[in-house]
Amino acid sequence: MKTSADWKALSETVALRGQAFINGQFVDAVSGETFPAVNPATERTLIDVASCDAADVDRAVDAARRAHESGVWSGMAPGDRKRALLRLADLMEQHSDELAVLDSLDMGKPITEMLSIDVPDSIDCMRWTAESIDKLYGEIAPTGKETLGLISHEPAGVVAAITPWNYPLMMATWKIAPALAAGNSVILKPSEKSALSVLRLAQLTKEAGIPDGVFNVLPGFGHTAGKALALHNDVNVLAFTGSSRVGGFLMEYAGQSNLKRVWIEAGGKSPMLVFEDCEDIEQAAGTAAAAIFSNQGEVCIACSRLYVQSSIKARFTEALLKAAAAYVPGNPQDPATRMGALVDKPQMETVSGYIQSAIDEGGEVLCGGVPEHVPGEGYFVAPTIVDGARNDMRFVREEIFGPVLALGEFEDEAEAVRLANDNRYGLGASVWTGNLSRAHRVSGQIRSGMVWVNGWGGGDSTMPFGGMKASGYGRDKSLHSLEKYTDIKTVWISL
Ligand code: NAD
Repeated sequence: MKTSADWKALSETVALRGQAFINGQFVDAVSGETFPAVNPATERTLIDVASCDAADVDRAVDAARRAHESGVWSGMAPGDRKRALLRLADLMEQHSDELAVLDSLDMGKPITEMLSIDVPDSIDCMRWTAESIDKLYGEIAPTGKETLGLISHEPAGVVAAITPWNYPLMMATWKIAPALAAGNSVILKPSEKSALSVLRLAQLTKEAGIPDGVFNVLPGFGHTAGKALALHNDVNVLAFTGSSRVGGFLMEYAGQSNLKRVWIEAGGKSPMLVFEDCEDIEQAAGTAAAAIFSNQGEVCIACSRLYVQSSIKARFTEALLKAAAAYVPGNPQDPATRMGALVDKPQMETVSGYIQSAIDEGGEVLCGGVPEHVPGEGYFVAPTIVDGARNDMRFVREEIFGPVLALGEFEDEAEAVRLANDNRYGLGASVWTGNLSRAHRVSGQIRSGMVWVNGWGGGDSTMPFGGMKASGYGRDKSLHSLEKYTDIKTVWISL
């Protein structure tokens, strides 16, 4: 187990790379432009990163297309692709500490979370998806004797993945693993707020023997690199994780260009419902705190709306406040830290604005509150719980993406379901009850892609991850993720 001093030493010595990765080479942006990667816990610049734009997109798409057409990866036997991706997973495992510290420095996540969630989940996703690819068969259609109908899956071609900053390595891996396994060439555009871990990953793909041009990374802004990728006529699939607003832009860009397939995994405002027959109030309260304060609340599936049955609300709130007190914002590279820094100043200001709006609309702050920022000392916000939440308040309706919990109550099951569904998003939901029939009844009525009963956030590589309504429709992980990156081909043979 590494100590705080070990992580400090690694933070100071870890190799940082800010160039783009195109056609197997690290290169500057054509324009020579860069932007700073800033450590949000210290406000100091880590490194200048290449700011890619349309010219770099053209280069990367050209390299990816040429690699695809050559068959060097797309034409490789699935078993051989599997072996290359398993080598990549092994390399990721060997370099776990480095990958963990890069994201922790770059976007403020506690190192302990990187080591317990992001890095192991990314490695597992890479391995599981690689393992699946030589076990999938095509179909023969039940036609008559005079014909043979073959149904197979082909790689879609050039895949662009545009990803957010809250789980930089993990969100990227959830797209890269199935897209590469299925035989595509991939261009990854990470968030401008967190490009460092995936640039390290790019180096590892080369070591793993993935051919040049098959995997490319273009750091840059959304309105430059991201938009140019989404508008490009030679990109076949666009796989996006990020806000619902930007997801909508990408669908427009696809419509304005070549009708590329667009997969959207977007925002959330997930509810947690705690019924009076919940078997362990302490456990439910501890999970409710984790569901909004882990990763500083910068979690798409954060349960930011908590509704507790009124008969147990006072007892539950006491346990919740005790659990919240364990989340003290601190140095992300200290293994004892449970809450790090928010990703940047605009995000801290957005979160502060929502807390102020909750107060202005009559909410009662039980802990935390509007942060006081000390310039140069990082973008920290304490766990904030606001009681008296009603669904017509702005901070209850909109995704905040910070450590702010709206606490409300309900009288009966019908009201609980109504409150849970009364939101434009539909990503996750958590239901606490000791009654099996109620667990099934309620989870069946909630309009969200994922429901956790007596828990929150559970899942592994075997389970799809994704939402409904304004949370999007794409699914990452599991065999379903491969459907995003393949085309169905039918061949009808007249015998
Ligand atoms: P964002 O939408 O601002 O940015 C996401 C990505 O899109 C970034 O790489 C950004 O540079 C790019 N982008 C921005 N504008 C663009 C444009 N005009 N054209 C092309 N690309 C553009 O989101 P964010 O702030 O990075 O991430 C937070 C959001 O992501 C939250 O809403 C969160 O809920 C969501 N999220 C969803 C999931 C999920 O699986 N559903 C997982 C993680 C995060």
